[in-house]
Amino acid sequence: MKLTIDQIERFKGQINLKKINIQGQIKLSNTKVLIIGAGGIGSPVALFLARSGIKYFEIADFDKVSKSNLHRQVLFDEKDINKNKALVTKKKISLIDKKIKVKTFQTKINKANIKKLIKDYDYVIDGTDNFSTKTLINDECLKQKKKLFIGSVSQFDCHIFYFNFASKGSCLKCFMPQIPKITPRCQDEGILGTVTGTAGSLIANELIKEVTGINSDLLNHVLIINFEKLNFRKVKINSSAKCKNHH
Ligand SMILES: [Zn+2]
Repeated sequence: MKLTIDQIERFKGQINLKKINIQGQIKLSNTKVLIIGAGGIGSPVALFLARSGIKYFEIADFDKVSKSNLHRQVLFDEKDINKNKALVTKKKISLIDKKIKVKTFQTKINKANIKKLIKDYDYVIDGTDNFSTKTLINDECLKQKKKLFIGSVSQFDCHIFYFNFASKGSCLKCFMPQIPKITPRCQDEGILGTVTGTAGSLIANELIKEVTGINSDLLNHVLIINFEKLNFRKVKINSSAKCKNHH
């Protein structure tokens, strides 16, 4: 596919980066992204990827916007309260670029529906807030050899992960062999909008690099940021002998 004059004008700020160029922009326009969880992490991911020239999205979220989401879920405003998050996300990112095509999935994901949901996508973003769903997404992405970005936040900490299951590597369970059954919701523990916003922005940044061939140094790593002390740590995740997914 070639870019039109209009698209070159729109994306020239990005195309002017030698490492992206026209070729990278064409790759972005052919990439299909599934975002599971359109909350504090999913919001900036959707906004930045829609602006970057990605054209095919599916947004999965069964939840409705509530007043207490507004301080961190940057896609939503007061008029969106009580509306489904996936639908509002579709509406908002379609306003950025009318060429964007967005599907929505408004059912809670489970063992029965996840297989079909992720099938058509190159990249899966996990912006969900509980470990049982994170495990389900991790295991199915591994089975279908997808590329998976995971974001997780708690109080002043954020963790972001990237795995490419098409090649040999590790997975979320290698990092956390014991997945906690119950996860406290991030808003009950307390969370800043800037923490979820940074986590989502970094995921969008790494995805753009992967698509355009710059490549992400987050592959098989977790980046842990503490926003109170402003500490950044990138830790390699080795394939673990204890992880059933690789043995
Ligand atoms: Zn593993």
